[in-house]
Amino acid sequence: MNLVAVGTVAFDSIETPFDRKDRVVGGAATYITLTASHFVKPVGLISVIGDDFPSDFLNEMKVRGINQDGLQIKKGEKSFFWAGKYHYDLNSRDTLATELNVLADFTPVVPESYRSCDFLMLGNLAPSVQMQVIQQIPERPKLVVMDTMNYWMDSAMDELKAVIAKVDVLSINDEEARQLAGEYSLVKAARKILLMGPRYLIIKKGEHGALLFDAHNIFFAPALPLEEVADPTGAGDTFAGGFIGYLAQTHNISFENMKRAVIIGSAMASFTCEKFGPERLLSLTKDEINERIEQFVALTDFEIYVED
Ligand code: AMP
Repeated sequence: MNLVAVGTVAFDSIETPFDRKDRVVGGAATYITLTASHFVKPVGLISVIGDDFPSDFLNEMKVRGINQDGLQIKKGEKSFFWAGKYHYDLNSRDTLATELNVLADFTPVVPESYRSCDFLMLGNLAPSVQMQVIQQIPERPKLVVMDTMNYWMDSAMDELKAVIAKVDVLSINDEEARQLAGEYSLVKAARKILLMGPRYLIIKKGEHGALLFDAHNIFFAPALPLEEVADPTGAGDTFAGGFIGYLAQTHNISFENMKRAVIIGSAMASFTCEKFGPERLLSLTKDEINERIEQFVALTDFEIYVED
């Protein structure tokens, strides 16, 4: 298994200023694995659900090359549930409910076939679970990418920092970067966060694009200006799935290739925003992905001549 991802597989209730949907399938690992499977197969999934989760959806994931040996199904228990409400700009949101349910006492077991993975994606869920996954992989993967959320900064900051110290790439949004570093300036925040352990930091800024930092360089990728956004839920996880999926496909973890991976992540995230839940990731074709990547290239392509 070249790529393994851990994260939530969940139900979400989502409210935007224009529409609402109750209990759609969601979860960080759902978006990550569905996105990554457009670039590499198989993808190993580590997560936990209750027996309330639709088997049709699990089958759909299986068909797409998402291996479920690391997915625990708890009889008589309920899956993770999250509810959120977006503000008018669709860039910021309030969490209305987080019900951990099966996640509350989840002990991940990394299957034997996942233990030699080269690429490990620690998607959003309890930092203690992310740490247990790292500890069960005997030889350090080539690249460990981590995503997290303000929820875990508020409830488990020390455990979170212990995981951050062990990863290569941290991917968070601007608000979370400010909270983690205690700095308003994102450049200062990035400098502080890079001292916490990761060699690379991605700061996502929703419809305003994403920044990739290492100790010496900054790269900026725009977000595609979309005519209509139905639901941005999962855009961050989709970004992460596209980023690591592309790196795993190309087996190249140079800064130059990470720049391309950030563009791929941004392109994939733009699709997720077009429909509620992960629906768009299921209908997506290779041609559509390639066309959108071209749009990204065109978006920032210009020539400039500076007079002496
Ligand atoms: P994103 O919009 O990329 O930040 O991710 C939204 C997804 O994250 C939703 O599908 C939720 O089920 C999931 N989610 C929300 N809160 C948490 C949390 N505290 N831990 C793990 N996953 C979460």
